[in-house]
Amino acid sequence: MIDNKKISKFAISIVDKLQKNNYEAYLVGGCVRDILCDMSPKDFDIATDATPEQVRKTFKASRIIGKRFKLVHVFSRDELIEVATFRSDSLSGQSQIVKDDQGKILRDNNWGSIEDDCKRRDFTLNALYYCPLNKEIKDFANGLNHIRKKVIVSLGDPQKRFEEDPVRSLRAIRFSSKLDFKIENKIKDAIYDKSYLLSDISNARMFDEFCKIFLNGNGEKNFNKLYTFNLLRYLIAANPDRNDYSKRVMIEAIKNTDDRVKNNQSKTPGFLIAALLWPELLKECASQEGINIRKFFRSMDKVLKRQQIKTAVPRKFYNYIKDIWILQLKLHSRIGNQPYKLIRHPRFRAAFDFMLVRERAANIKNGPGEWWEKFQKKDDALKKNLIDQIKEENEEDSYKKFGFSKELG
Ligand code: ATP
Ligand code: MG
Repeated sequence: MIDNKKISKFAISIVDKLQKNNYEAYLVGGCVRDILCDMSPKDFDIATDATPEQVRKTFKASRIIGKRFKLVHVFSRDELIEVATFRSDSLSGQSQIVKDDQGKILRDNNWGSIEDDCKRRDFTLNALYYCPLNKEIKDFANGLNHIRKKVIVSLGDPQKRFEEDPVRSLRAIRFSSKLDFKIENKIKDAIYDKSYLLSDISNARMFDEFCKIFLNGNGEKNFNKLYTFNLLRYLIAANPDRNDYSKRVMIEAIKNTDDRVKNNQSKTPGFLIAALLWPELLKECASQEGINIRKFFRSMDKVLKRQQIKTAVPRKFYNYIKDIWILQLKLHSRIGNQPYKLIRHPRFRAAFDFMLVRERAANIKNGPGEWWEKFQKKDDALKKNLIDQIKEENEEDSYKKFGFSKELG
């Protein structure tokens, strides 16, 4: 049923070696699921009954990581495989937390059997264990059947499981978009009932999840589902209203990112965050004359700070995001020789792409996006003509023109 050609040879060799050393070892989780769904896995995880120390001893090129949740990274020159020891659910009552005489916790790594390990995974489709040597799939939770039926089913009562870890609600949505699977009703109820707990999840983990949701090619589907479940507010510090400009600009930006993923182009959370927060920035600095430029600059940090509370945006993206925003103003004004300089700005291309996103969202035709499209052509006479055309227009008016007013509503 599974074609081993789709599995990394290195991962198979690790399973083989563990088994030769009399340990149980299987490929598990996302990689098995993805292959069964005719997709290419992006990484390979292994589960085994060998303890991390035993795995470490078995492979020269390996390293134990984590303290509370120990794992082993086994690496080759160009690959890294995560090997995890079967765990049992410490919340299920038979906790075996090891303490010293003073009661200090030495470890709460509760090792268990493969059946225990299965129970603490999130969904049945993620709980399949595959042995590439005898090609057998171990399926303790009816996962194969659920994959055939294209449905996401919780392991255990989802109300309880989502209380344990509310991020599972985001994962259910993510997998349903990625695989085009339905979400069972019990899970839907648990999403409605328990997702308020997402506000307690660390912003670092939420940023990881944000990237998986919006930067893996299924952003638009995820956005629509998150909107329906009213979960966007845990990921984005903005409030898209039904059908208004702010929602459209978000969707256009996400679609743009989805297309880039499909075409194997580079993608960055910076672009997306700049776009998702743009309507908020405009709201902060809206004035009767269009936008108040001083407020615009003052509000950038404020808007970013609000996002930071939800998802930990790495510092290195801050300047990128601000550049994209500031360049929107410059792309509008096009004063003097500025366009010749702007076109060489390292963020020009991203800023221009975002300008097109804004214009699509605001339904602006013949805006500066089109002007810049022409200006990028290798034609000096055309460039000069375009500049002359701008000179004839009233510069003071330029922020109001070309649709800032349409965006401000
Ligand atoms: P992808 O990597 O495509 O996002 P994945 O299923 O591989 O999907 P990982 O986060 O890499 O997801 O996790 C690997 C496996 O670990 C999952 O398939 C699942 O069995 C288990 N797992 C991960 N996160 C959780 C969680 N929050 N609760 C329970 N089990 C989890
Ligand atoms: Mg994975």
